[in-house]
Amino acid sequence: MNLREFLPRSLWLAPLGLSLVFVLGVLAWVRANEADEQEQQRQTMISDALSTEAQLRDRIDEEQAHLRQLAAALGGQKPSTATLAAHPEVNAGLRRLWQSVTWLDARNRVLAEVPEDAEAAHSDDGLSLHLTARVAPDGVLVVRYAPALMLKRGVPWWLARKYDVQLVDSADQVIASTTDSPMRAAQGPRPSYRVALTGPLRASPLTQATLTDAALELTLRDPAVNGARPLSWVLVAGFLPLIAVASWLIRRQMRQVQRAEVAGRTEAAWRRAMEDSALVALRARDFDGRLLYVNRTFCDMVGLPAEQLVGLLPPMPYWPPDALAEVAERNRRNLAGQAPREGYEAHWRHSSGRLVDVMVFESPLVDAGGRQIGWMGSIIDITERRRLEERERRQVETLAHNARLTMLGEVASTLAHELNQPLTAIASYNAGIANSLAKMGVQDELVCGALKRLGQQAEHAGRIVARIREFLTRREPRHEPCDLNEVISAAVDLLRREVQRREIGLDLALSPQAPPVLADAVLIEQVVINLVRNAADALMARAAGRHIAVSSRVAGDFVRVDVQDNGPGLAGRRVEQLCAPFYSTKSDGMGMGLAICRSIVEAHQGVLDASEAPGGGALFSFSLPLSQEIVHG
Ligand code: ADP
Repeated sequence: MNLREFLPRSLWLAPLGLSLVFVLGVLAWVRANEADEQEQQRQTMISDALSTEAQLRDRIDEEQAHLRQLAAALGGQKPSTATLAAHPEVNAGLRRLWQSVTWLDARNRVLAEVPEDAEAAHSDDGLSLHLTARVAPDGVLVVRYAPALMLKRGVPWWLARKYDVQLVDSADQVIASTTDSPMRAAQGPRPSYRVALTGPLRASPLTQATLTDAALELTLRDPAVNGARPLSWVLVAGFLPLIAVASWLIRRQMRQVQRAEVAGRTEAAWRRAMEDSALVALRARDFDGRLLYVNRTFCDMVGLPAEQLVGLLPPMPYWPPDALAEVAERNRRNLAGQAPREGYEAHWRHSSGRLVDVMVFESPLVDAGGRQIGWMGSIIDITERRRLEERERRQVETLAHNARLTMLGEVASTLAHELNQPLTAIASYNAGIANSLAKMGVQDELVCGALKRLGQQAEHAGRIVARIREFLTRREPRHEPCDLNEVISAAVDLLRREVQRREIGLDLALSPQAPPVLADAVLIEQVVINLVRNAADALMARAAGRHIAVSSRVAGDFVRVDVQDNGPGLAGRRVEQLCAPFYSTKSDGMGMGLAICRSIVEAHQGVLDASEAPGGGALFSFSLPLSQEIVHG
């Protein structure tokens, strides 16, 4: 499949592809946005963590400063619980953050402590941290405070709402937290940030060691970004199948449209091909007679292109100008729906001026909704048919005329022949009687005159008869070398249409070896025509399966021509009877056909014969001597 075919076929993929690109774009944008937001969040968290750490450090430093002031104030005084408890700085510290204040001597023995049951009072505040300050001359003041409380009081409320703020040690143990129940485990990993807070935190009052690797950890309580992410995934996941289904529907639709298009194109091409190759001319007209459509045959018939014809209103350019009124009248009749169903004949004029005989069949032109919108005409050019019919008619007429003339000649010839004898007899008897009367001495003027005139009249009649015979026999058969096969073919061709009309099968089996004969082609043609026509007449007695076989062959010194049919046969009649002048079994028969045939054949030194055909029917044949025989004979 090349690109030209592929592109329109895969067009349906375009929306799917575009949607995928769009979805990927949205996802990338969401991710970038998310990363942006996370980065921003991280930055904010870092700065929040750093500022919280600074605040806490400040706070511890502040407490340390208070403690130092207290230590300075107590310097030199006698250590006692009362002294401690009475000091306002101690009370203020306890109200703020301190859990207890303990006064130790150089050996870390407790000299005084406020409150007195400090351990018991604050045992539930979790891990404690300590601040220390030296008291002159050799004591140490230790303040114990709860980092949890410090976180709760030291971290601003908005920060505590946003983050879980925790102090964790190096072992990831929570030392203190702003929330009572850390959600860390429950909600999975949340963005958090740690900042080291080791310096001022002291776990034990006795060692100077600070809490190693303690850190301040801020954990985002409500990571809002994460909430949007699943939703976008759900939307995308929902969107893609929808687009896929829509694309599939588009594809199906496109396929259907493509199939319909192909089918439409094929059908149009078929229709065009059929209309153009039809021998029938087609024209469609509306009710006003305006030409809506013409096919190629129509254009060829009138010699005008379709562009010049379509849209034309009557009178049409192909109407013969000398019969416009008559054609217009017929056109009105046709448009009124009164055209004869069996069609009507018309004469049209080709653009070259030649007249065309046509047969027109009108039928209603119906649109797709079954509504009649005009008339559809089918037109057949019958010019050639008319010409052939005319020619055939003339041929038949000429044949009949010639046959009649020949027959008349034969009748006259027979009459002359038959009359010659009685006339001669009359003349002889007349001469005999005249002689006898002269011998008897009869001198009767009246009788002798009558006999003389009788003799003259008989002679006159004899001369007339002789002249007729001379005239009729003046056209001696013209013996010329001729191809008998050609003569037979020509005769059969003359009769072919008649034979076809009578539904008779005609077989020609002509011997190719037949040499030329010396004969009068016109007369021999008459013989063949007569024999075939007789056979055809006889065959009309059969209902079907009519058949005539004409053959020629060389037999000895003769060429023999057979005309055989499968008709009723000769019923025992012999050739002499059939060839007798005026013998006919047909109602309109003259009975001279075979007589003439016989005399023509005999004039050629030939023989005419008739017999029963082997398979039933009649077999008429004639033989003509070969030309050498005639020449040498
Ligand atoms: P016509 O044809 O006028 O009758 P024809 O001399 O040609 O005169 O024929 C004489 C008769 O011979 C016909 O009337 C017919 O009875 C008979 N005849 C001629 N040809 C055939 C044939 N092929 N089969 C049967 N009878 C025939």
